[in-house]
Amino acid sequence: MSLLRLDHVSAFYGPSQALFDVSLALAEGEVMALMGRNGMGKTTTVWVICRMLRNRGGSVLLDGQDIGSWPSHRAARAGIGLVPEGRRCFRDLTVYENLIAAARPGEWDFAAVTRLFPRLAERRDQKAATLSGGEQQMLAIGRALMTNPRLLVLDEATEGLAPVVRQEIWAAIQRLKADTGMALLVVDKSLKELATVADTAVILEKGVSVWSGEFAALTDDITDRYLGV
Ligand code: ATP
Repeated sequence: MSLLRLDHVSAFYGPSQALFDVSLALAEGEVMALMGRNGMGKTTTVWVICRMLRNRGGSVLLDGQDIGSWPSHRAARAGIGLVPEGRRCFRDLTVYENLIAAARPGEWDFAAVTRLFPRLAERRDQKAATLSGGEQQMLAIGRALMTNPRLLVLDEATEGLAPVVRQEIWAAIQRLKADTGMALLVVDKSLKELATVADTAVILEKGVSVWSGEFAALTDDITDRYLGV
């Protein structure tokens, strides 16, 4: 059975439809890349998965159970961890407080998160607002890990960061894949880096899933057509 499954999902912002009949399935431990140009529906799909936006048609299943009526906190408790676009840390809380606020029992605790991101231990008592962009991104990932998710959803986790910091974030994602059995849904624009972690891929265009399959089966023709500028 799939860990997460979207079956013929549609979603709207008021009267305007953003997702049309989107289906995807993610197995336990699978790393899926969710791709598409700007405004094609990636974040909307993420919101539907995390229950920050209700799907209007179709179904969203976690372990085969329809979670369509769940609020976002229930999805989080059930194991869907979100690293949102734009990071959204609690700016006036310290690094430690941000992490502890999210904590749920499991292997991911403050010590484990700071083993993945030693920088967060150095910044332990600093307010999130005073962190660099890269450190805030590490904090956002750490905070999601503290919920001990079964599925970690990363929405543009490397966006707007300096190349060296992006590499640190990708290294952390690679370690998550290698060292844990966590399923990952990764929204990102960097094909080269996605290729180092992704098992499968889904491409969205104008709210429609136009391609899905093994990441290794992506051809230049497909990526040029749907992701090229
Ligand atoms: P990006 O890479 O720019 O983040 P995306 O692929 O994540 O893009 P979405 O943010 O999911 O795309 O947007 C999909 C469509 O829904 C776009 O047409 C966008 O304008 C629209 N949309 C997104 N958020 C809202 C909102 N809060 N209200 C109305 N329309 C929205």
